[in-house]
Amino acid sequence: MKSKNIIVGNWKMNPLSLKEAEKLFADVVKSISDIKKTEIVICAPFVYLEKLKKISKKISLGAQDVFWGEVGAFTGEISAEMLYDIGARYVIVGHSERRAMGENNNDVNKKIKSALSAGLRPILCVGEGMRDENHEYLNFVKIQIEECLNGVSKDSISKIVIAYEPVWAIGKEAPHPATPEEFREMNIFIKKILSDKFGVKEISKVRIIYGGSVDDKNAEGFIKDGKANGFLPGRASLSPEKFSKIVKICEALSK
Ligand code: PEP
Repeated sequence: MKSKNIIVGNWKMNPLSLKEAEKLFADVVKSISDIKKTEIVICAPFVYLEKLKKISKKISLGAQDVFWGEVGAFTGEISAEMLYDIGARYVIVGHSERRAMGENNNDVNKKIKSALSAGLRPILCVGEGMRDENHEYLNFVKIQIEECLNGVSKDSISKIVIAYEPVWAIGKEAPHPATPEEFREMNIFIKKILSDKFGVKEISKVRIIYGGSVDDKNAEGFIKDGKANGFLPGRASLSPEKFSKIVKICEALSK
């Protein structure tokens, strides 16, 4: 069976209080009550996850990062097992905002392995900082994928979601999102890297999603023309109205 399309809201470091987080989550839940064919995940700040779990089971919860160590002297860190224990089922790894703070492919690789062994599904973010005429950006993404997935078993690959997030398309300073055609090219390229590494059959359930200034105006093109299996919206996930419109577009185009 094919995997459902997936929409992962990345709230980043928002909102500022638990009360606001509960309201935002409850509003999102209300706005997607008739959704059946699309999986919805909200990646909220760590401190809200346990409370949000009590509001609804319709939306899966995810964290925005995880530490690779299992237990012990790692001041300030949070393990995959701890996240699973409080109800998270997904975790974003390798987001460009964490990479900008120094995280490298090797760190991301350790986080993926640790997440998988605790039962969390990693959402691996990859994407180039800029595009160049010589298509070096393809090589950059290839290296990211190969290094981040180094040592991951064939049995585990279907649990991983790959989010192609070109860094130049993320956030309010981004000049524009990628085009569906740019995503389509990358989607095919990523599938080729994965199938060479894991086998065509093993990767048939891997979802490749788009992130970078996605909204209710451009979402349709990424699914219809880019063949995206879903999205990772940042800003749009903070508006129940915009987020639910994206989800509904995805649902309407789901087979
Ligand atoms: C993100 O940071 O993952 C992201 C895609 O943000 P935005 O949708 O706001 O560009």
